[in-house]
Amino acid sequence: MTQPIETAPAPAPKNFIREIIDEDLRSGKHTTIVTRFPPEPNGYLHLGHAKSICLNFGLARDYGGSCHLRFDDTNPLKEEEEYVESIKADVRWLGFDWGEHLYYASNYFEQLYEHAVKLIKLDKAYVDSLSAEEIREHRGTLTQPGRNSPYRERGIEENLDLFARMRAGEFPDGAHVLRAKIDMKSANVVMRDPTLWRIRHAEHHRTGNKWCIYPMYDYTHCISDSIEGVTHSLCTLEFENNRELYDWVLDTLGLFHSRQYEFARLNMTYVVVSKRKLIQLVKEGYVRGWDDPRMPTLTGIRRRGYTPESIRMFIERIGLARSENVVEIEQLEACVREHLNDTAPRMMGVVKPLKVTIENYPEGQVEWFEFQNHPEKPEMGTRQVPFSRTLYIERDDFKEDAHRKWFRLAPGKEVRLRYAYYVTCKEVVKDASGEITELICTYDPQTRGGWSQDGRKVKGTLHWLSAAHAVPAEVRLYDRLFSVPNPLADKDKEFLELINPNALEIVHGFVEPALGQAEPGYRCQFERIGYFCCDPDSRPGKPVYNRTVGLKDTWAKIEKKDE
Ligand code: ATP
Ligand code: MG
Repeated sequence: MTQPIETAPAPAPKNFIREIIDEDLRSGKHTTIVTRFPPEPNGYLHLGHAKSICLNFGLARDYGGSCHLRFDDTNPLKEEEEYVESIKADVRWLGFDWGEHLYYASNYFEQLYEHAVKLIKLDKAYVDSLSAEEIREHRGTLTQPGRNSPYRERGIEENLDLFARMRAGEFPDGAHVLRAKIDMKSANVVMRDPTLWRIRHAEHHRTGNKWCIYPMYDYTHCISDSIEGVTHSLCTLEFENNRELYDWVLDTLGLFHSRQYEFARLNMTYVVVSKRKLIQLVKEGYVRGWDDPRMPTLTGIRRRGYTPESIRMFIERIGLARSENVVEIEQLEACVREHLNDTAPRMMGVVKPLKVTIENYPEGQVEWFEFQNHPEKPEMGTRQVPFSRTLYIERDDFKEDAHRKWFRLAPGKEVRLRYAYYVTCKEVVKDASGEITELICTYDPQTRGGWSQDGRKVKGTLHWLSAAHAVPAEVRLYDRLFSVPNPLADKDKEFLELINPNALEIVHGFVEPALGQAEPGYRCQFERIGYFCCDPDSRPGKPVYNRTVGLKDTWAKIEKKDE
């Protein structure tokens, strides 16, 4: 089974970046815009990256410009080809396309080197031979100015010679660095002679052993933007102080001047959106991998059943601001619920089964009832669902000691089995330990289709499965990764200690026959339970279903109860 998912209409809300672009186009500063999404291939993309992707690719789409996918691959120690491939897949999955505009910062190493030589010749860069520790000491603090390195006044010729020999591999890691010559007393610490190149004898996933010196992020980023003709270089607020250096490099070299603008990064409750932290969860085995459905990675939430439309809707709704904020995870959940409510077929799955025998229903008889696949979308069709003497219902739909407001099944109570019959509970069967193992019920043949002819009303409608036809399914009930809204804010506990131990509950339930054949990635609603997605661990006849999200926010209810 596969299913078509409709594409949400393209959003184009106004925000401060769009205002800047509008003005740049109006004034003639630019005639077209170029943006870029520049991931470092050192991990999988997460929801924070989705914000940047939707922003950059969305602007290019709406303004008829282009958005480059550029791998910011200047740190050979942490980067791998596996991450490059996953990033491409995730960007595509989100619905964006970089066309011909695929770039790697590592393709610019030669140009970056030439520009560094130029800076040395301009007396704007020098080779420093202090150790990393000494450089840190000389840098000063936010309140204290830095001090010049004793190597700062090396002659241009000596600098050129040393820099060439750094490249040639004559020195070990850490022996020298190339630094910009700016101002050790600058109020902006970033401007205190930042390092531009460092020695690192390491194999790079693309350039192999060609290089043993590697350029730093701040130096690489602005020049890469400039080489590619990026007009608006959008990054998160942490880089605000780096903008001065971004401008300094391009101005000093006289290169095409891309402009950097900062926006607030995405922060969300109940998850962490930092690659470094996510790597820790994966490497230390707290989750099953990058695509564990508890993870806020794109590959994780995809496996969980989130749709690209719902992520785009979420990013559009939270908007773009210049000040830091925290978005509640409920907003994301609401988006996926909304999209799946619209598109996912309604199916029956019993997550925690309880056996029901209809004692007055003929043995061996099977009736097929017609079910609508979507109550508001007749075009999604209907299907036949078998009914027989032995059924499964949801364990939670039965209560032995029911209170007045309990409308579901209880001893002596009558309920509707959706589209089938009214049934009444006559007897509760228990095992030696007192656990309920079966309910004995009767049905009213006059209520075929789920409606009584005498106008008798029942309040409860339950979902059900014919036991003989139901397919056993492993059901993975996912919940939030952390048990507190901000796991990084706790002063006494490490975020790892705040992982929600109930973020995954595995139960063994049943699904209707059609769902036994579904393809991984197939999404549907289990009626009355939530939205589910078929997991790649499924085998023919042995499906595994992941709960994407419940039908409503059960947490809000729990929280209310605790008040
Ligand atoms: P992390 O902090 O998770 O390690 P990063 O910034 O190091 O992320 P990059 O691969 O450098 O990861 O990020 C690529 C792009 O995605 C950058 O432009 C960065 O600003 C943006 N980005 C990363 N995290 C977020 C976030 N939480 N919200 C918005 N944009 C983000
Ligand atoms: Mg980064």
